[in-house]
Amino acid sequence: MTHALAIRAITPVAQNVFSYDLEKPDGFTFTPGQATDVSIDRDGWRDKKRPFTFTSLPDQDTLQFTIKSYHDHNGVTDQLAKLLVGDRLIVGDPWGTIGYKGKGVFIAGGAGITPFIPILRQLNGRTGHLADHTLIFANRGERDIILREELEAMPGLTVHHILSQEDKTGLAHGRVDRAFLERTVTDFGQKFYLCGPDPMVEDLKQTLAGLGAEADALVFEK
Ligand SMILES: Cc1cc2nc3c(=O)[nH]c(=O)nc-3n(C[C@H](O)[C@H](O)[C@H](O)COP(=O)(O)OP(=O)(O)OC[C@H]3O[C@@H](n4cnc5c(N)ncnc54)[C@H](O)[C@@H]3O)c2cc1C
Repeated sequence: MTHALAIRAITPVAQNVFSYDLEKPDGFTFTPGQATDVSIDRDGWRDKKRPFTFTSLPDQDTLQFTIKSYHDHNGVTDQLAKLLVGDRLIVGDPWGTIGYKGKGVFIAGGAGITPFIPILRQLNGRTGHLADHTLIFANRGERDIILREELEAMPGLTVHHILSQEDKTGLAHGRVDRAFLERTVTDFGQKFYLCGPDPMVEDLKQTLAGLGAEADALVFEK
């Protein structure tokens, strides 16, 4: 089933990244971490569906997506950045395999943070539930860090930023490789949540296995 939903608010949250708050149909629900197919309710765009992740919580009265736009070609995300409050998106039923499975380390690359946003928001809303969780957030540059302030302000969450294309005081430089994981993670017996570009997720699965993480402790989109 699909719903044409009006955009109620558009908020910049990083370079080329906006959060879109939409009206929510009665009874619509999802699990934090799930995604859906979204298209733009405009002539020429309705059949161009792309996957995006809900970043709001299921009990909120709006639906939110947080979307990075790529302006190098005339795709859906380029168009999304041109939308205004009142324009409509066509939103499908929720799907996806990422969900909270227990205490662990979230490793995100760029817009791969999106499934972790509602999971972290939900844990943060339950006093003490975020304690001993870690976020490793890889980006090209500092301006690409989505919702940096909100994530860093979550009590109990240890945040490690790593930038591949900038050298900034206080932030790591490079990629999330074996040496970086050995420096930042002490327990490889916990859950590891992975989301980012496919090559990053594939590399991390191998690297974490080599560091002792069990295959069933790895949570990623299948
Ligand atoms: C499960 C899942 C959840 C996701 N959730 C989110 C999310 O919450 N937030 C988010 O920001 N992203 C998310 N993504 C990524 C998001 O789906 C993509 O960024 C989006 O599909 C890109 O759509 P697009 O139309 O802009 O570009 P594309 O689909 O990449 O491209 C559209 C068309 O343009 C062509 N094209 C591509 N590159 C170029 C180029 N350089 N020049 C010319 N033509 C080109 C393509 O071949 C294609 O025909 C998610 C992805 C998955 C799989």
